[in-house]
Amino acid sequence: MALIVAALAALTCYLITSDIEASLVVLVGAGIAAMIAGGGGDAAPSPAPTAATGSDIGIEEVIDAVAEPLLVIGQNRVEAANRGARQLLGEHILGEDVRVAIRHPAAAERLSNPDDGVPGAPIHLVGLGNRDQRWEMRVQALPDGRRIVHLFDRTGSYAAERMRVDFVANASHELRTPLASLLGYIETLREEAGDDPATRERFLKIMFGEARRMQRLVDDLISLSRIEAEKYRAPSDKVELGTLIEQVTAELSSSPRSADLVRRIADVQPVRGDASQLSQLLHNVIGNAMKYGRDATPVTISLAPEGEAMVRLTVTDEGEGIPAQHLPRLTERFYRVDSGRSRQAGGTGLGLAIVKHIIERHRGRLDIASTVGVGTSVTILLPTGTLSS
Ligand code: ADP
Repeated sequence: MALIVAALAALTCYLITSDIEASLVVLVGAGIAAMIAGGGGDAAPSPAPTAATGSDIGIEEVIDAVAEPLLVIGQNRVEAANRGARQLLGEHILGEDVRVAIRHPAAAERLSNPDDGVPGAPIHLVGLGNRDQRWEMRVQALPDGRRIVHLFDRTGSYAAERMRVDFVANASHELRTPLASLLGYIETLREEAGDDPATRERFLKIMFGEARRMQRLVDDLISLSRIEAEKYRAPSDKVELGTLIEQVTAELSSSPRSADLVRRIADVQPVRGDASQLSQLLHNVIGNAMKYGRDATPVTISLAPEGEAMVRLTVTDEGEGIPAQHLPRLTERFYRVDSGRSRQAGGTGLGLAIVKHIIERHRGRLDIASTVGVGTSVTILLPTGTLSS
């Protein structure tokens, strides 16, 4: 009966507020309230507690079944705390004043003024646990005057939201710079410089370069969003990586450093992949090795089997290399070691982010190793998968 009442209370809350988490708090709260009441309000006599029916389970066991930190407080003292709460706040919190136990000014204020604002409305706690953590706290009153404090970890969703906001800001900034330059040259051409053929030619060349830069950026942004949209769709082409490498290096034959390309292609199983995405991956990784490698030094592309079910693709250059502290961040969007050099070489700062997403979709692995002054080696492992056709 107690559980039915709890479920009905939670359902009513959900229907009124459409808030699944508030309803969960009500469900836990009402369930605990019913347990505290010990079933005294039930018309039917309670059956004798048995392990089989589980009716001898105490509050501690009930709240321990909730993954997020949860506290039961009476007269501002912590009467019960589940495992999550004890891990977050310490084992000593039982019996403590909850405002001391939670040790956060915003939480203390809400807990001191329970009628403040909408009952059950969440508040956000920054830096509880450790400096970067973000929690949402909800407080729900029980019929007997006790309260349930429920904490939800929002660190991940906050970080994802920040990444999205940063990405939009960075993309806008990257587009605005060439656009401002284009507008400036158009303005100057319309005024005085347009009359002089040599100046006009020079300006048009710069404008073409800036327009191409915008185009590369827009193309990469579109690629990235397409690859992300297909993230959960397993690729289905049967791709011969050796042949694809031949194709991509042929496409790069007009670039200034094509003579430096060295191929070491072993016989490997085909991979189950997306041919156009894998071609883009090769373009980006080989393109980087050519861009950042030293002139007239080899860029080596090797393909070999890796165990039974993988192939290993390695692209090695003899460039200046990348200092170790940058390595973990290279696949972040718009992360560059040397922005000036990247822009000068026509980079968008999205190449390795695209590579990472393509590898994730193919359930592969990426490793970038580099030694300053010696060069960089990018290794990609791809599963051959089950290939029936
Ligand atoms: P970009 O368009 O700037 O080349 P990427 O995402 O492809 O962007 O690479 C990110 C950064 O990683 C580059 O700006 C560059 O600083 C560094 N990088 C990538 N590949 C190499 C390499 N082979 N050698 C040295 N630095 C590299």
